[in-house]
Amino acid sequence: MTKSSTAVMPTYGRLDIAFTKGEGVWLTDSDGKKYLDALSGIAVCNLGHAHPAIAKAIAEQASTLIHTSNIYQIPLQIELAEKLTELSGMEQVFFCNSGAEANETAIKIARKYGHSKGIDKPVIIVMDASFHGRTMATLTATGNPKVHAGFEPLVPGFVRVPYNDLDALRMAIGHWPEAVAVMVEPVQGEGGVKIPDTDYLAGVRDLCTQRQLLMMLDEVQTGIGRTGTWFAFQQSDDVVPDVMMLAKGLGNGMPIGACLASGLATDVLQPGNHGSTFGGNPLACRAALTVLETIESEHVLDNVSSLTHDIVNGFHDALAGQEEVKTIRSSGFMFGIELTIPCTELVQQALEKGILINVTADKIVRLLPPLIMTKDEANTMVSLVSNLVIEFLASKAVKSVA
Ligand SMILES: *Cc1c(COP(=O)(O)O)cnc(C)c1O
Repeated sequence: MTKSSTAVMPTYGRLDIAFTKGEGVWLTDSDGKKYLDALSGIAVCNLGHAHPAIAKAIAEQASTLIHTSNIYQIPLQIELAEKLTELSGMEQVFFCNSGAEANETAIKIARKYGHSKGIDKPVIIVMDASFHGRTMATLTATGNPKVHAGFEPLVPGFVRVPYNDLDALRMAIGHWPEAVAVMVEPVQGEGGVKIPDTDYLAGVRDLCTQRQLLMMLDEVQTGIGRTGTWFAFQQSDDVVPDVMMLAKGLGNGMPIGACLASGLATDVLQPGNHGSTFGGNPLACRAALTVLETIESEHVLDNVSSLTHDIVNGFHDALAGQEEVKTIRSSGFMFGIELTIPCTELVQQALEKGILINVTADKIVRLLPPLIMTKDEANTMVSLVSNLVIEFLASKAVKSVA
């Protein structure tokens, strides 16, 4: 067991556990106990821990050249930008170091785009229960009062509508002549693995196109194969966003974020408008390029597609007849098991059973396993998590009768 220190700012509710080593989907703690990692550092280590190709690329690059500056050309950054635009069908990339920074870039693009149309006070439409990060503008965009509390005044220029509600979005667009962009997650991750109707993204795209608003997709969590395609929007016909934000899985743990632009958002940011000291440095770009190459060479997207149904069916079978299990849902390897009762204590109970899970929005068991998981490991995950939920619900049932 590793306890916390008062020298670290207490911004997180941390568990008393530290990991010292990882391999594939497995983590080892400081006492030598092994755990199945069904969270991937929150959708970051999509290729698992200590992937040999990533480790080698980072080590080689570190002993060659880590950082120069965006004052100069960075060939690995160019290579990565070309690869990302090819995979997404978008046109340009700005590199930064996190999801929040990618979203900040998007917000700046939206505002500058608004100013170029003569709108002095541009408005960005965001969603209820969204999560976009912890900087001032991205926490304002986030639809969670707990994230706002204590940090007012918030940043002006955001209005909020319910998620997965095209009528509400249409009304908001009609109501706000200053609207310049819609910022939305293809699946709400932190909000509770909320999967919108299949026509939702196409509907958002249409509404944005009609009014020349930027469709800005926060794929920080859904991107890089998490939902079974490179980007979640690729599962909706005829949808390409104007702006897309990436981070989490892009570097498999090496910090890197990206904001992509196409269509109306292309060339909005001009020299001097935006920048980052570290953003797109050779080390981060080499790691990300190797992530993309490895996803291709190891057919990782096929693995996600083929195992997703097995995992969902496995949960349905194992949890059949459990009345307190409300829904079991997935978008690729984003799994949510929604209970009718709060279940945050499951996180600690899972550790005792040797598995890392997350509970979000109080009642939703969230799993974000590495995309390289084998069928055997997937079966292990399903049985560990199902047993955990069944035991938890049985203990609650006994208590409520007593
Ligand atoms: C994690 C996340 C962010 C924030 O990313 P950071 O790298 O923590 O700044 C933004 N948007 C979504 C959808 C996320 O899941």
